[in-house]
Amino acid sequence: MKKVFIAPRKYVQGRGVLREIGQFLAALGKKPLLLWDARVKALVGPTILTSLKEAGLEVVTVDFGGQSSKPEAARVAEIAREQKADIAVGIGGGKTLDTAKAAAAQAGLKTVTVPTIASNDSPTSSFTVWYDEHDACIGFESWGVNPDLVLVDTQVIVQAPVRSFVAGMGDALATWLEAETCFKARGGNLAGGQPTMAALTLARLCYDTLLQFGLEARQAVEHHAVTPAVEKVVEANVLLSGLGFESGGVATAHMIANALPSLPECHKLMHGEEVGFGLISQLCLDEDLPIDQVYRIVDFEIAVGLPVTFADLDLEKISRERLRKIGDICAGKGSLCENHPFTVGAEDVVDAMIAADALGWERKRIHSKG
Ligand SMILES: [Zn+2]
Repeated sequence: MKKVFIAPRKYVQGRGVLREIGQFLAALGKKPLLLWDARVKALVGPTILTSLKEAGLEVVTVDFGGQSSKPEAARVAEIAREQKADIAVGIGGGKTLDTAKAAAAQAGLKTVTVPTIASNDSPTSSFTVWYDEHDACIGFESWGVNPDLVLVDTQVIVQAPVRSFVAGMGDALATWLEAETCFKARGGNLAGGQPTMAALTLARLCYDTLLQFGLEARQAVEHHAVTPAVEKVVEANVLLSGLGFESGGVATAHMIANALPSLPECHKLMHGEEVGFGLISQLCLDEDLPIDQVYRIVDFEIAVGLPVTFADLDLEKISRERLRKIGDICAGKGSLCENHPFTVGAEDVVDAMIAADALGWERKRIHSKG
């Protein structure tokens, strides 16, 4: 079996790097199309437009319609063609970035992602997650190429709500444990092969970085401060998590996260929060990890503010029958749960989630005793 590793062509991270966006884009083309929403435009627009002007670039700006949907991507691609843009630049959250990637693929442009929050692992990946008009996830699609440039300004990242930063840690924390599972099961990654040693090593570094610096970084972000710990965790949330999930592979933690939005109570949750609970459920399904390491993960999630119980997910007193809906999705054909070295059935997933909830309560009880 072949091993495949994929990555963006360039990754730049640091305080104030957005001021240099003009020179980075000038190396890729002449006429960038900027896709952003009103809030992001107000936050970073002046800095970006000044830098692009200094670099002598013509600019097209497009207001994002708000949804990573096929019609929205087609609309942006059409504007790019009409205006003869040669780079699509998505600036904002995951949905804006995913739409820019799709429009770039459709119009044959270079792709640049500029995340303004570190809440998920979309920026480095070749994927777009699609939603319908009711905000329901309807699947994902790879464009076969990763972005030409990922530009992450940590001064901008720390202005975002701390909740999004914590959600990014939930998404990133699962990366190594899911990649390991895929590796053991000889399962496939999202790059069309099996994980390389490089992918597993980056995923492990992601995990170790979060456990060591995650809480300290969270405290700094609460005060909008860029510290060395923040820089490390941003790199974990965006770069290491992105490379790790795409070239390492995902499993039950992500499958539960993808299934949870089928329960209306979970609509307000962020992807990384769902992955955080999905991860504890995965650990209750797979007995490979020593229990003290499981406790360490749950304790870390509690400390940074990720959901560890049904109550945290707004699912207090949920019945076994309703959980079965998640179990059925996870046990379906082609599910990410097939990336385990054993068969995962619907009831196994239900029991793992119930065990995760109980473990979450128990660790919280121990914490509150101090
Ligand atoms: Zn994810």
